[in-house]
Amino acid sequence: MRVAMIGGGYVGLVSGACFADFGSSVTVVERDPAKLAMLRDHKIPIYEPSLDQIVARNVQAGRLAFTADLKSAVDGADVVFIAVGTPTRRGGGHADLTAVYEAARAVAKAATAPLIVVTKSTVPVGTGREVARILRETRPDVRFDVASNPEFLREGNAITDFTEPDRVVIGIDLLDTEGAARAEASMRQVYAPLVAKNTPFRFVSRESAELAKYASNAFLAMKVAFVNEMADLSEKTGADIAEVAGCMGLDRRIGDKFLRAGPGFGGSCFPKDTRALAAIAQDAGVPSRLVEATIAANEYRKEAVARRILALAGGEIAGKVVALLGLTFKPDTDDMREATSLPVMRNLLTYGARIQAFDPEGMAHAKSMVTGDVTFMPTARDAIEGSDILVLLTEWDDFRKLEPQDVMAAMRGNIILDMRDIWDGSAFTAAGAVYHAVGRARTA
Ligand code: NAD
Repeated sequence: MRVAMIGGGYVGLVSGACFADFGSSVTVVERDPAKLAMLRDHKIPIYEPSLDQIVARNVQAGRLAFTADLKSAVDGADVVFIAVGTPTRRGGGHADLTAVYEAARAVAKAATAPLIVVTKSTVPVGTGREVARILRETRPDVRFDVASNPEFLREGNAITDFTEPDRVVIGIDLLDTEGAARAEASMRQVYAPLVAKNTPFRFVSRESAELAKYASNAFLAMKVAFVNEMADLSEKTGADIAEVAGCMGLDRRIGDKFLRAGPGFGGSCFPKDTRALAAIAQDAGVPSRLVEATIAANEYRKEAVARRILALAGGEIAGKVVALLGLTFKPDTDDMREATSLPVMRNLLTYGARIQAFDPEGMAHAKSMVTGDVTFMPTARDAIEGSDILVLLTEWDDFRKLEPQDVMAAMRGNIILDMRDIWDGSAFTAAGAVYHAVGRARTA
């Protein structure tokens, strides 16, 4: 199959490279000149483990190419995927579909033969219908079949998630039997290796596919918000959230994933997708109280981290040095979008604290997102040096290896707040720390 992938970001680049690896001939269209230059120079603009190898392998095999020229990519393609961003629209929770509709118009103009057009971006219910309308209106002379194929990959684990997914969801226009059959056949071909290994495929209506993506993300976000609430309750009641979540997770009806307490969810998906789903529900006249509560609980939690640090400092933190380890919204990504570290830094700066921060991959982006007394350090050890309070926000593996003795020797003060509960509290206490972990009243 010849595939055009519009958008070479986290999703477009991973999907494009993986479809090439599955055997299709893929052209990724990226309009950001800096990203495109990197891709053409065999560099990967994002941090995603093992993506570089798949890209290199497929570029070398002649199955993967990058261009800014949408027209040439669409010309001769069998399937076009739209994988552009759908951020929150200014002044509300709705998804901003400008890039999706722009891409649809450009695809229509470029089309020279019948095309299957697939939205891979996360889009509100009804977007597929609107994309089909735009395509038909722009080019009444060309036949387009529009499908929805939401993406469920997680940054940091994207390749495995794409090549070994729990399921592949494909929404087709059930009112157009022939078009639906064409779209289904093409998607089975593009995903042939997954079809062959019996990955569950769900061919459903476009609307169901679109809603399934938001519902899945909102459900996971709700799970995180819930366990965070239980973490607060654990701290106040003498329970330990790790133990509580461990007991809960053994129940197969609940499952053990997304039950780790932390500083609140961030990233490029959960915050914007929960907001978009709440907006969709409002518009439909069936407001979702649970999704709205999830958003509110998480916002509160993100803001509360700095207050907690202030309290640990005895209510006065002006001039004190806070070491922050981990800035990205989770490990193994350089993505700083809506990371919890951003409100934490902003609030600490308002209190007058001085920040020494370190993140293995996120600092380049972080630097452009905060202003004030933040020093970005070259190593974790440098960030800790001379600090009064050490706060771990993101659980990068390297941070697990820090030795309590070394940490305490480098710090000026002795207060530690482990917002991911990755360290051995008793070892830190033995080394002289006043140690606090998320979701646990005991400090050792
Ligand atoms: P991103 O911002 O990393 O990438 C989008 C890319 O599309 C950008 O590089 C942009 O320059 C490019 N682009 C926009 N319009 C274009 C056009 N007309 N022609 C060529 N290039 C164009 O975004 P992302 O994280 O890859 O997310 C894309 C979509 O996938 C969103 O809807 C998101 O919600 C969804 N999604 C993201 C993830 C994730 O983990 N990042 C997971 C699942 C789904």
